[in-house]
Amino acid sequence: VFMALLGTATASGLTVLVLILVEATNILLPADTKFGIVLDAGSSHTSLYVYQWPADKEKDTGLVSQALACQVEGPGISSYTADPAQAGESLKGCLGEALALIPGDLHRATPTFLGATAGMRLLSQKNSSQAGAILAAVSRVLGQSSLDFRGAEILAGRDEGACAWITINYVLGRLVKYSSGEWIQPAEDTLVGALDLGGASAQISFVPSGPILDESTQTSFRLYGSDYSVYAHSHLCFGRDQMLKRLLAGLVPVGLAREGWGAGQAAAHPAPLQRGPALLARHPCYLSGYQTTLPLAALYESPCVHAAAQLDLTQNLTVEGTGSPGACVAAIRELFSFSGCEGPGDCAFNGVHQPPVQGQFYAFSNFYYTFRFLNLTSRQPLGTVNTTIWEFCQRPWKLVEASYPGQEQWLQDYCASGLYILVLLQALGFSEETWANIEFQKQVTTSQPSPSALGKADSGAVARRPRSPQRPCTLQAGGTDIGWTLGYMLNLTGMIPAEAPAQWRAQSH
Ligand code: AMP
Repeated sequence: VFMALLGTATASGLTVLVLILVEATNILLPADTKFGIVLDAGSSHTSLYVYQWPADKEKDTGLVSQALACQVEGPGISSYTADPAQAGESLKGCLGEALALIPGDLHRATPTFLGATAGMRLLSQKNSSQAGAILAAVSRVLGQSSLDFRGAEILAGRDEGACAWITINYVLGRLVKYSSGEWIQPAEDTLVGALDLGGASAQISFVPSGPILDESTQTSFRLYGSDYSVYAHSHLCFGRDQMLKRLLAGLVPVGLAREGWGAGQAAAHPAPLQRGPALLARHPCYLSGYQTTLPLAALYESPCVHAAAQLDLTQNLTVEGTGSPGACVAAIRELFSFSGCEGPGDCAFNGVHQPPVQGQFYAFSNFYYTFRFLNLTSRQPLGTVNTTIWEFCQRPWKLVEASYPGQEQWLQDYCASGLYILVLLQALGFSEETWANIEFQKQVTTSQPSPSALGKADSGAVARRPRSPQRPCTLQAGGTDIGWTLGYMLNLTGMIPAEAPAQWRAQSH
């Protein structure tokens, strides 16, 4: 039934045997499985997700599952300004994975979308023609594939937040739920909010108990017969990578009279030093003993960072960690403006309207990565979380480096991102009491009954196919990544009906 083809690929001088199982028929799949693809073109990298669902249950809830998550090699598409065509080329590996997974006769019927987020939002602010060239390049590659490519666009920040809200509530079965033989509408207080910390922006979305006073932060949905008014906002430049750049820029020694260097802050930080041709910044959020050097220009490329006029951007900057969590928190707080918010309950920070947080929240992306690394994803109380992060920040770099071999990529930043998360969540209105409502997670498993319990064939068959270990892909065995992509696809394909389907209404009477 299957043809096993042995292909060879050469990677890093090594010959790698790649086993590709090609289905001669759709025997592993029930005939009624459908697929959809969403590419999440984030600021730091692109992920490709393949979703699958039983075709005749298209408008049901919770039955869409993630069949594949593929990490595109290389940086986010917004980095390809010098050679936009390469942004398109970079997608080909994951695209090939998706095409190998989906039976050939279904390619044409597989809706495929690319959504770019804050990295491209920033690029289009800075240079809209470069952003346009990159979108054109990725569209060319996706449009030339055998899939039903529906377009590539830059998502508005609010939509990114709102789509993540749909994803999480859909997958958890909080919109409608099949329970004890009938479809029910869960109580509104079971809806969950979404907290997303990306590379360039941070999103919050939830249904507040009071009114949303600024229309630009409101998204209204009618889903399965119920109306939802969701608060969603994206704080541009408050993602992890941009926060780190802004933080470092605030510590660059440009003379003691540099911008934003208030008297209180000067007391909280070690004084910056100037040393020879390279500048030296002593950084309280890096561990003591950590040192790195970077070109100053790299810091100021971002529209989130404003260069002081007297800086010579051809210099290098040497960064030395001092491992001082108190000073780090003070420096992070300088990135927020708390003025212009008229008291608690109607504003978060930087003058952005936000009602008080309400209900349970799922915190994912870098919220999860950072807390996973620090072993803080088991609903520890805020006091324990604070102590753990502060203790980590005070460890010598040499010891930490030796304790986590193979984790070099992000290791130096976990102190900064851990403390940043604490400041950010407080700025978003979480307190000691509401802290317990935050669940730090990357994936959720559908809460709905399996398709077979609903009288359908098991559509999870695809996940049993063997994989090559060299590929940057994860075939799912039930979990769905939390993020905006699934909600985006459900929305654009009309898979969530405004009204509850008639047979459900009949069932529940
Ligand atoms: P993403 O959700 O992939 O857009 O990543 C959000 C942010 O987390 C970016 O700043 C990434 O550089 C960073 N990041 C991605 N993976 C990890 C990881 N495993 N540990 C720590 N940070 C990560």
